[in-house]
Amino acid sequence: MEKKPFNAFEMAQQQFDAAAEKLGLDQATRDLLRSSLREYHFLIPVRMDDGSYKVFRGFRCQHSDARGPCKGGIRFHPNETIDTVRALAMWMTWKTAVVDIPLGGGKGGVICDPHNLSDREQEGICRGWVRQIAYNIGPVQDVPAPDIMTHGQHMLWMLDELERIRGGKFPGFITGKPVGMGGSLGRTEATGFGVMYTVREAMKELGIDIKKTVGAFQGFGNVSQYAVKLFREYGGKALCVSCWDQIDQTSYTFRRESGVDPDELMGITDKFNSIDKAKARQVGYEVLPGDAWIEQEADLLVPAALENQITGANVAKIHKRVRIIAEGANGPTTPEADVEIHKRGIFMIPDFLCNAGGVTCSYFEQVQSNMNFYWHLNEVFSRLDEKMTAGFKAVSELARKKNLYMRDAAYMIAVSRVAEASHLRGWV
Ligand code: GLU
Repeated sequence: MEKKPFNAFEMAQQQFDAAAEKLGLDQATRDLLRSSLREYHFLIPVRMDDGSYKVFRGFRCQHSDARGPCKGGIRFHPNETIDTVRALAMWMTWKTAVVDIPLGGGKGGVICDPHNLSDREQEGICRGWVRQIAYNIGPVQDVPAPDIMTHGQHMLWMLDELERIRGGKFPGFITGKPVGMGGSLGRTEATGFGVMYTVREAMKELGIDIKKTVGAFQGFGNVSQYAVKLFREYGGKALCVSCWDQIDQTSYTFRRESGVDPDELMGITDKFNSIDKAKARQVGYEVLPGDAWIEQEADLLVPAALENQITGANVAKIHKRVRIIAEGANGPTTPEADVEIHKRGIFMIPDFLCNAGGVTCSYFEQVQSNMNFYWHLNEVFSRLDEKMTAGFKAVSELARKKNLYMRDAAYMIAVSRVAEASHLRGWV
């Protein structure tokens, strides 16, 4: 029998149902929290550079605003689906709840491949996306941010379009803006650094000296790059990163026994931001298949690319040396693989806790934008560290006390906070 294709939303619902069961939630609360509160599906017509018109498909899912305005990124991806956006919106709700920031969860997407689009065409998509839901998003309703293949410039085009339509300045409408244009210092580093703050705390708890550890990283986007940087600053050795190759339409793992240097690798990327294989070989990297990261002899694995990466099919490849998995990406591990990881006693730092640094800094950005006064970098990092460390400690304490898998503990904290907010508001 052919295997059913991966569906992130089914996975998110399965995870939620398990948490709801453990918490003994009533049926109405379950019904309210296992789907999006609101969803928008729309078309975005764009005039292309060659004069033709192309129609893109866009989405926004607002999963819950019980604890504050919906919050979450917008992804540009050729394989985007509404179910992926639904799952990611739900995970944003748990993410903001687990680090206890006063926001809800949302996610957006557009089916497109920015690699094949000019800046002007991408601007058209950004402005068109905002035009479709300009009155259903905003600083007190739903606050977008960057995600896969979107960045500060996209956010600024979106902000500009909203301000034109709504007639005013609303810098708190969107986060991840460029610094100097309402952005916060530290937002670029925030997700990757946040991942490493939780790894640092996990190692402290497990009595592991980070300076003696080796890490294997999947991905070479914003999250992985900064996670690797801070890991190296802490004294760890990053053995490999993997990177998508746009020309070959596959990914490769770049491994160097003496350790990878993210700045060096960033300096040898091609026009699609893929690491140049020939140049990497010249500076001592082995170029291995894309999935080689998972079987490296390392203490720490950091999947920081996409969802559905550690599955029932490859979980057995994880090296026996691995002690910690830190999920930089959203949804990289399937429930089937979770069972195996739990059994092997590997310490899991689950995605919506591990990668919450991005949205936490987005929250700081929103606060700064709304008061129009901006903090020093040190202030941002120290507040970020404080929030991430507190979030980690709350989850690990519950996990220890009740002998739970870390993902289950994180779910119990997050879901109970959102359920409680929904009850207090009198919704269910
Ligand atoms: N897209 C990021 C995430 O998945 C950040 C979201 C935000 O900053 O709102 O957490």
